[in-house]
Amino acid sequence: MPSTKRKLKTAFQEHMNSVPMEQDGTVKKGSEPLGITSATKVMLDEKNYPQKRFFRSRAHCNPLSHNDGFKYPLRPNEYDWSIHYPEVAADKRTVRVLDIGMGFGGLTVDLAKLMPDKLILGMEIRAKVCEYVRLRVDALRAEHVGEYQNASCLRTNCMRYLPNFFEKESMDKIFFCFPDPHFKAKNHRRRIVNDNLLTEYSYIMAPDALLYTITDVKELHDWHVEKCTSHPGFERVSDEECERDPCVQSMLVKTEEGQKVARQGGHNTKGEKYFAVFRKNKDKPCLMASIF
Ligand code: SAM
Repeated sequence: MPSTKRKLKTAFQEHMNSVPMEQDGTVKKGSEPLGITSATKVMLDEKNYPQKRFFRSRAHCNPLSHNDGFKYPLRPNEYDWSIHYPEVAADKRTVRVLDIGMGFGGLTVDLAKLMPDKLILGMEIRAKVCEYVRLRVDALRAEHVGEYQNASCLRTNCMRYLPNFFEKESMDKIFFCFPDPHFKAKNHRRRIVNDNLLTEYSYIMAPDALLYTITDVKELHDWHVEKCTSHPGFERVSDEECERDPCVQSMLVKTEEGQKVARQGGHNTKGEKYFAVFRKNKDKPCLMASIF
């Protein structure tokens, strides 16, 4: 008798075998119809939304691994965004908002509602959770006709390939919500907010664009504040401005991790969440020369 865990794993594998997928978590172009296969149906609820239990996977991965083998475009203009945003006019198909390490995508889909005129992209390294979000967006688009066309997700390692996907100064907002804390000092180099990557993030951010962080680990919050304020490309946004920003509220209550912290207390027993927002310093020259 197979265990429940084995059954969930097998169901996911059968679904993946039934849908022709690219490595970046998109369905292969030309493989119409993209309808839900019988193998997929098993993993959906009565309204065709994916059920989380089929999509849980190991909590951590090594973002510095050189064996991840992701496919990525050599230049941003080589990537085909029509797969992600088929109903959006070609000349408006520029991603403006990134949810880095989106997990189960609660923030990604909420931002799509908050900013219907901007394209939102959730990015995630783990295949199972990325597939969950793809199905979630599909179900939202089917239930709310004409809405959520500006939401999508992409599977990649954000610590390695962002400038391959996005043009210089194209991004209005980048979110880092409850990133993996990598507690041990020897693993701090795996943290997704670090000196080198901040330069890369500022390269793809428009002048005045905002970078958001939130975590339940006080030490990681202090790290975010220290790294961003000491970087010449960023300055911290005031508390008053954060209070007025609906995206801050969304990070606090719509992320799955934010909800988990509220329910269970998270890494600190009080269930506290620490956030900070930083503006790209437009008076400082970009520290990174054009890559391409
Ligand atoms: N942001 C979500 C939330 O708040 O509910 C999920 C937070 S979860 C603790 C951190 C997520 O970041 C995980 O899903 C993990 O797989 C993803 N992640 C970690 N390193 C990554 C990387 N280098 N590129 C893309 N995603 C990454």
